[in-house]
Amino acid sequence: MNKAKYIWMDGELTPWDNAKVHVLTHTLHYGNGAIEGTKAYKTVDGRCAIFKLNEHTKRLLNSAKMTLMDVPFSLEELNNAQVKLLQENELFDGAYIRPLVYLGYGVMGLYHKDAPVNVSISAWEWGAYLGEEGLKKGIRLKISSMTRTPNTSGMGKAKAVANYLNSQMAKFEAVEAGYDEALLRDDQGYIAEASGACFFMVRDGKLISPPSDNTLESITQATIIDLAQDMGLEVVRRRITREEIYIADEAFLTGTAAEVTPIREVDARVIGCGSRGPITEKLQTAYFDAVAGKNPDYIKHLTYIN
Ligand code: PMP
Repeated sequence: MNKAKYIWMDGELTPWDNAKVHVLTHTLHYGNGAIEGTKAYKTVDGRCAIFKLNEHTKRLLNSAKMTLMDVPFSLEELNNAQVKLLQENELFDGAYIRPLVYLGYGVMGLYHKDAPVNVSISAWEWGAYLGEEGLKKGIRLKISSMTRTPNTSGMGKAKAVANYLNSQMAKFEAVEAGYDEALLRDDQGYIAEASGACFFMVRDGKLISPPSDNTLESITQATIIDLAQDMGLEVVRRRITREEIYIADEAFLTGTAAEVTPIREVDARVIGCGSRGPITEKLQTAYFDAVAGKNPDYIKHLTYIN
């Protein structure tokens, strides 16, 4: 891991190696916390900007609200903290930003109303989540034996720490079986999302992605839909079954970390040309242009840090 100089902890910039918590931190035991995953990119004019900062911070606060944690900082304070953290860490070539809302030390037992709510924000340089090679040639997916936690059993629309047990189990299974990533179905058997990204496929020139019924409301998915519509592509949000993916013309994953990662194989079926498809490539280029400030229509989503 690429260490940075500081981690923001409850309003203070703490040296990276001192950013520690007590072993009786509530979240460590019972798993109620909320995270974000936000990214800053070097822009075309040589500066650096955080993409859709406000959307990510808003989702963090919404996740905390869903999981019954009162965050002691405002949206604006948290936005400013992320900008300051990147500046103080001199992360001007881009960074991954990981805000965390967690229940701290002082209360044990499940009833958490009196547990302190703490916030940390870390940032570091992090390369392509599913590999540079994956971005170019595509990755191999396994449909998971794990069901995506249904919204009757959890806070599926929260980027809740607890949701990542489900994701971790699916990811481990897929990687141990020789695949790169897991695709999870909902409790009705329809495709929900990957362990840490959203799913898209192309059929007959149309872009199709599942509804958010049993998924995180993804910020990158919204960007991709906007970019696709800018290109005049028809976009459909509807349920997808596993066998339909096998005969898709193209498929890809989207996420802040996954960016736009083509899928070349699912469960031993080759998808389309078996590499990055033409529509996937166009959307991938459009996404990287948007985050790098090359598309004037998307500059409004950039928060420059220098
Ligand atoms: N689903 C899950 C489970 C995720 O962890 C992520 C990554 N945050 C996504 C989807 C994609 O969301 P976003 O585009 O907002 O990063």
